[in-house]
Amino acid sequence: MPLLAALAVLVPLSAAQYPGATAVPAEFAAGFRAITIDDAKAWLGYLAGPECEGRGSGQDGYLKAAAFMAERYKQFGLKPAGDNGTYFQYVPYIRATINSATLSADGFSVAQGEQLVAAGFYENKSLQGQVAILTAQGRDVKFDPSPLKGKIVITQMNGVTTEFRRQIEQSGALLVLTVSELIAAPRPVTAFGRLPALSGRIHPHAVAKLAEAVKIKVPVLVDGTVNLATSEAMVKFDVQVTAERKDMPNVVGVYEGSDPVLKSEYVGIGAHLDHLGRRGDVVYWGADDDASGCTALLGVAKALQANAVKPKRSILFMAFAGEESGLVGSRYLVDHPMFPIDKMICELQMDMVGRNSDGIQNGDRNRVDKAEENVDTMRLVGSKRISTELHELILDLNQYVNFRFKYDSEDVYTRSDHYAFAAKGIPAAFLFCGFHPDYHQPTDTPDKINYEKVTNAAKLFYLTALQSANRERPFTKDVSGG
Ligand SMILES: [Zn+2]
Repeated sequence: MPLLAALAVLVPLSAAQYPGATAVPAEFAAGFRAITIDDAKAWLGYLAGPECEGRGSGQDGYLKAAAFMAERYKQFGLKPAGDNGTYFQYVPYIRATINSATLSADGFSVAQGEQLVAAGFYENKSLQGQVAILTAQGRDVKFDPSPLKGKIVITQMNGVTTEFRRQIEQSGALLVLTVSELIAAPRPVTAFGRLPALSGRIHPHAVAKLAEAVKIKVPVLVDGTVNLATSEAMVKFDVQVTAERKDMPNVVGVYEGSDPVLKSEYVGIGAHLDHLGRRGDVVYWGADDDASGCTALLGVAKALQANAVKPKRSILFMAFAGEESGLVGSRYLVDHPMFPIDKMICELQMDMVGRNSDGIQNGDRNRVDKAEENVDTMRLVGSKRISTELHELILDLNQYVNFRFKYDSEDVYTRSDHYAFAAKGIPAAFLFCGFHPDYHQPTDTPDKINYEKVTNAAKLFYLTALQSANRERPFTKDVSGG
């Protein structure tokens, strides 16, 4: 190795902005300096390394990654914003197998098998109530579901609307069994985020025998009508379940605002901590997706702590669980917010901020992105959809980093956690480097990361979070979203 290059290695790796960037104002410079390539390599190396095994939902590697994030949150002065004074907001994650189910009444019993199967049970249950058999046919049928409350309901429905089915499900029935000639064997089921309603299927032969035992008539299906028969006699439904509960946390911490009034409002900033994990002998490391975003998230926290100018509003840091399972963690957070969700003035998301886009997947099918042409490019997604002010703020602050923004990836707008917030009308902006051949492959590894890009993403969103937190008013929502 030539002498000059060897010397260069000894110089501390401070993350440089891209050529042409304006020098950052002195009041933000300490934060900029706190974001380093050395940190990024260490953090991303751990998150996408052997300990965390790809951070799979339901796997120990994810929990190790969550503990790692929480330790750094603490180190950088974030206060816990999760359950019971911790950094963890646990999202329900349960694996269950229904071992047995029995529906019985005086003189009647059917067990799980060819004529009965239960679903949606995550613990042992013994339900008891009158039975209500409901038949409904046609798109226009209407029904007041209140008589179903507290009953074991058996339904036969034909051509009814989804809304009608939902009404039945939410009627307060103990359980809704659907009449079906097709009874499949029960399967082990994983529930993540939300537990499905108690349900099951029952064969028409079993329904006929049950009706006889409880002395009611099974109502006939008649087009355009809803018919209900309710027993006087009680029936029982017993299930035995083997369940393994392994809740997966969102890792949440808040950098408290310095203004006594404005601190009750907040900026959200997030990345997803989960990836595809270990599958058999193969580990999906997820270095870019999204260890890069979590690394940048830690960089932002460190920069805020290092900087003398403090945010007036609070800043909520969120490392989400279950993004790869369908934005499970962010949707859960939005439904169970630690602070009123209407006080969140924007959400800044970083999902895949560490690679140079490469290949044909990026926006234009007639164009092949070349990695060497995307060393300094970043997709800015969704920022114009709710508030032009947010978009313009980011463009303005980008002068200190000088990403070449691309706008060809609006098709991924619904595909990361910011969307859970945008769907609630919160202005959101999503940094995304674009796709590459290692996307969702075991080859998405730390050695392929462009660490300069990761640190520049952190710098840009450090400035954006701080400036958003210090603006006079929340962002004007001048666009309808969508
Ligand atoms: Zn992702």
